[in-house]
Amino acid sequence: MVDAKVLRTPWWPVVVFLRLQAEAGWNQGTVWLFHATSLPFHLYTKVRRAANPYHPAWELYFEERESRHMAHTLAGRAALLYLWRTQGGKCLACGLPISWETGWHSHHVVPKVLGGHDGATNRQLLHPECHR
Ligand SMILES: [Zn+2]
Repeated sequence: MVDAKVLRTPWWPVVVFLRLQAEAGWNQGTVWLFHATSLPFHLYTKVRRAANPYHPAWELYFEERESRHMAHTLAGRAALLYLWRTQGGKCLACGLPISWETGWHSHHVVPKVLGGHDGATNRQLLHPECHR
């Protein structure tokens, strides 16, 4: 059994001691709650050198990039789930279901280069094939 105790000290606001309850009694020691290698991580993908976020030709590139980023963040997943639910789980271009297997792109209705915003009212989920 793991027990956490919080002590307030003058030199450091909070010191947390974790104690393990062994069969013989309480023993204080190092407790590994999880190993660092168990944390998922995603390598940052560099922006292409020639990419220009203000040029319409690069809109698709940045939307694909943003779609990948959204799937890896909590706020992005919440936004994707909201869009998916409001669309009934279907692609607005072809009407077929969108799933993890089919994939999706977060498309801007009004392109950002033309002043469109990143809010949910300016987005729609499309299949990658339908987005091109
Ligand atoms: Zn589609």
